[in-house]
Amino acid sequence: MSAAKVIKQTDLPGNKRVWIYPKLIKGRLYKYRSLVSYLLLIPLFAGPFIKLNGEQLFLFDILERKFVVFGVVFMPQDFYLFVLATLSFIVFIVLFTSVFGRVWCGWACPQTIFMEMVFRKIEYWIEGDAKKQKELDAAPLSASKFVKKASKHVIFALISFLIANIFLAYFIGSDALLKIITEPVGLHLVGFAAIVVFTAAFYLVFTKVRELVCTVICPYGRLQEVLIDRKTLVVAYDYTRGEPRGHINKHSEAPTGDCVDCNLCVDVCPTGIDIRQGTQMECINCTACIDACDMVMEKTHRPLRLIGFKSEEGVAESKPHSIGKRIYAYAAILAVLFGTLTFLLITRSDISATVLRAGGTLYQMRDDGTVSNLYNAELINKTTAPIRFSLVMPDNNTKIQYINKPGIINKGESAKLTFFLIRPQHAVKKYKSRITLEIAAGGRTISSAKTTFIAPPN
Ligand code: SF4
Ligand code: SF4
Repeated sequence: MSAAKVIKQTDLPGNKRVWIYPKLIKGRLYKYRSLVSYLLLIPLFAGPFIKLNGEQLFLFDILERKFVVFGVVFMPQDFYLFVLATLSFIVFIVLFTSVFGRVWCGWACPQTIFMEMVFRKIEYWIEGDAKKQKELDAAPLSASKFVKKASKHVIFALISFLIANIFLAYFIGSDALLKIITEPVGLHLVGFAAIVVFTAAFYLVFTKVRELVCTVICPYGRLQEVLIDRKTLVVAYDYTRGEPRGHINKHSEAPTGDCVDCNLCVDVCPTGIDIRQGTQMECINCTACIDACDMVMEKTHRPLRLIGFKSEEGVAESKPHSIGKRIYAYAAILAVLFGTLTFLLITRSDISATVLRAGGTLYQMRDDGTVSNLYNAELINKTTAPIRFSLVMPDNNTKIQYINKPGIINKGESAKLTFFLIRPQHAVKKYKSRITLEIAAGGRTISSAKTTFIAPPN
């Protein structure tokens, strides 16, 4: 048997969905996973309501083209940072997945956390364990079945509503969300419709679609085939130890492996697969089968981790885990991307400035022996506080004459300026020269802008 075989959803007989009733196993890893889930759910829910520098901790306002990360505002002018951050994130995902497989899916993905640690737990609480849920679904409608199903779906709908609100708060901001909630519906029809649509979508996902999000819909899941290799750590069955599998039979002399073929690892799997068939795309690395098998191993007095975090190479060749050259290459690329991103973030200016010579003008010869060019400038305040700014010309030969004076730019807003740059004609050495203007605030230079100056050379 080869543990590297990847079995696709479409390989399943008849390609028909079988409703999964995973058995609940409260093993050691399940307890850790519960703890990790709660630790992640707290910041996820609190995120939109925490403010830093007067801004939401995280905001992805696509309509207003405003992004806030850890209270730092990013405008469309910072698009290059966004591209670099996205590239770094993709390389990080590739690197992480190549080393640790799909552990993100089982332990940190919001879909799994909500499904397994919130909705599934409520289902166990109201309807009982897998066996009781199956019996309840098969039973004819009765008062008790109606009460159980109705209460479950009401709670599911309420939680979906809560998630929809939080989800929306990350995209429109918690202040805008509070207005939708507290003000008359008629004033926020679009926002109200968005909450209804997202509530319905989440309700559908957690009541009907469930594991299909991970096994069929999620693109990250579909990428596993290309990202993992023989050295990747995944949830794997040690077939060298487990096979030939067989029930414990004290009267048989036939040799058997450590797998007692109890099927518990299959019964607990939320995606309904048998990990003993090898690495499969449907495995979300939730580690429930590790807990299940460890319990069996404990009871049968055999070594633990017949199923565990192992690489195919480790299982097939009993080698200690090692990292391949591919990982070093990914790590090097990530280091370069991350280093560049850090440098750009540190040196990012508070004001973004664009200075252009006014369209349709060349230069103006003045009676006092000077020559001037007319400019339009747009300055955007990228900080979370108002800035009183001024323009500074480091070149002493060039003077600034404002048509409209610089003043204060409020946070996230822009200011437009029109001004002349004036030089003595005798100081002009070539027709077109590059010049740099500095933008100062609070006695220091906070940004600069390059433009050109045109004049007939002396
Ligand atoms: S095979 Fe194991 S780790 Fe993978 S999804 Fe099923 S229970 Fe979770
Ligand atoms: S839980 Fe362990 S012993 Fe039982 S069938 Fe699965 S691998 Fe075999």
